[in-house]
Amino acid sequence: MYCVDKALEFQTARRRCVARGKERSTSFVCSYCRNLVLTQAWVSGVQNRNHCPYCLHSRHLDLEQPGDRLSACKGIMRPIGVTLKKTHKKYGARNAGELMLIHQCQECGKLSINRIAADDDPQAILAVFIASLSLDPARHTLLAHSGIQPLNEQDMPVLRRGLFGAIEMAFTRD
Ligand SMILES: [Zn+2]
Ligand SMILES: [Zn+2]
Repeated sequence: MYCVDKALEFQTARRRCVARGKERSTSFVCSYCRNLVLTQAWVSGVQNRNHCPYCLHSRHLDLEQPGDRLSACKGIMRPIGVTLKKTHKKYGARNAGELMLIHQCQECGKLSINRIAADDDPQAILAVFIASLSLDPARHTLLAHSGIQPLNEQDMPVLRRGLFGAIEMAFTRD
């Protein structure tokens, strides 16, 4: 029994080391589009870069906290929509929130909300939004149950401002 316990202890410790090593690494290969993704905070503008900036897919690695890497699932998480980060302000201030991506695990169905990083492809985000306008009713129900409100057609100005605001201003000068 003693040996088994020791072996388990060793395995757990090793797994923790591996997990920590992953967090420290500065890049990963996207399991969806196979592009190399840099994870340094100065590139992405976020602490835990968890999705690919090109195809926006992610992997189901975290269990409770962002970056804990404790989930056993490891499924591919697909971007299924865009939402706004909940603020403590009243509903009227809906336009003021930060744009977030909604991901759903292809294996277990888990939903998660993730910050958009500075180097995420805005055209890819726009494509996710457009696809999300024809989400199936079952997914809409699931999102509603999870308290997630995806942006819809009426929110287009909010999305454009969030994604292309600075660029549009540059073009409309003069
Ligand atoms: Zn990718
Ligand atoms: Zn999963």
